[in-house]
Amino acid sequence: MAIEQVYDTTMFPGTSNLSQPSGDDDLEVALAGGPTTTDLSATQGAAELDELVAIAAQRSRLDHRESVLLAEIAESGICDAVHGHTTNMWFADRTKQARKSASDRVRIAQELHTRYEPLADALEAGLVGWQHVGVFHRATNSRNWRDMAELLPGLINLAQVAGFERWSQEVRGIAQRLDQNGGYDPATDPTNNYLHLVPTINGITYVSGQLVGELALTIKKLIDGETDRVLTRYRSDAEASGGEVPVPSRAQACAEALGEMLDRGSGVPDGSGKLPEPEIVVILNDQSGELTDDDGNHLSPEILRFIIAAGLIRPLEVAGSGDPLRMGRTLRYANRHQRRALMTRDGGCIFPGCDRPASWCDAHHVDEWDDNGPTDINNLGLLCRHHHRVTHRPGWTMTRTAQPPTTQPNDPNTADPDQVRFRWRTPTGRLIDSQRHHQRSHPTAA
Ligand SMILES: [Zn+2]
Repeated sequence: MAIEQVYDTTMFPGTSNLSQPSGDDDLEVALAGGPTTTDLSATQGAAELDELVAIAAQRSRLDHRESVLLAEIAESGICDAVHGHTTNMWFADRTKQARKSASDRVRIAQELHTRYEPLADALEAGLVGWQHVGVFHRATNSRNWRDMAELLPGLINLAQVAGFERWSQEVRGIAQRLDQNGGYDPATDPTNNYLHLVPTINGITYVSGQLVGELALTIKKLIDGETDRVLTRYRSDAEASGGEVPVPSRAQACAEALGEMLDRGSGVPDGSGKLPEPEIVVILNDQSGELTDDDGNHLSPEILRFIIAAGLIRPLEVAGSGDPLRMGRTLRYANRHQRRALMTRDGGCIFPGCDRPASWCDAHHVDEWDDNGPTDINNLGLLCRHHHRVTHRPGWTMTRTAQPPTTQPNDPNTADPDQVRFRWRTPTGRLIDSQRHHQRSHPTAA
């Protein structure tokens, strides 16, 4: 088949405009409910629904054609001969894809055309999509692929009546059973554990992976338990703030739980009795004001605030040329002595009702460090990561108060200049006073 045929849009009448760049006028007509969208309400969008189905079929044909070419090219070694590249690297580079997804495509294409020709035909006919091919690829291995290949006609038929999730489950289940007959249980093979963290330049990190056996059970159990605790804390905050601290989704709570557990784990002193040294440098470009890590990934100022408060990372200011100017603002975060004094004074998170101990807490600058707030113990309060985030939410302010609101003026405690208390104002004006963990004695009282 010629490649032109694959791109021939005339086989889908009415969609030939898809490949033409549409002018702004067309776009405006469409947005304003012009001819293409007025039909939608009149005919329940029948034409549009048909078009979507046609696009999916066309996409399968394109995926099939791409896989034919990739398999041929990889087999021929032409990329190496002509460009001095592996097929994967050449493909990733020329099509601006992530290296991993390009090499997955090449590997799956080769496998598809050497082992699973009926699946390749089904892809070309639009009976299955590239996602099906991916699931089949991941379910098979050197032990079960022959048996799986024999089952393909039945599996392709199943794909015509079953939804994608159900089909995937079926394929994985059959593959696993076939593998076990060969004396192999993938769920206990530690080589099946993997975890990828892929940072992107816009500051988002994608997490993906697979866990098996004991590791899967342990990690799931630990994260589930911590997620429950995070949610309980949010619910109690929602109550204390009259609903102004919203309760997050379980998925969001799960991400926070993971972060808190790792924070805590990495804060455990090592054999030498010291906390781990900061390993990452945050680079602040003096001219552009841009923040990056030492791999050049963009960081938001919001992130910086937390990592500095946690003492995890030392900021480094650089000139436009990238030359270091100074260890940026090193005096703006609490030093070891101040942290020790804070631990004694506050004893833990100062948000009322929170029981997080001091070792889990950040030293929060009540007057923001980027507003030139001084690093002075009276300007610092211990907050757990969760309440630190709450404090930085839009509309929330935290200020120092001269004395505890509940003590009398003649109380000797109020004469103590160290009796610093803090107060939050929520977006609706509710006032919340800080707490101290009184189980720890005040050093000046001795
Ligand atoms: Zn707290």
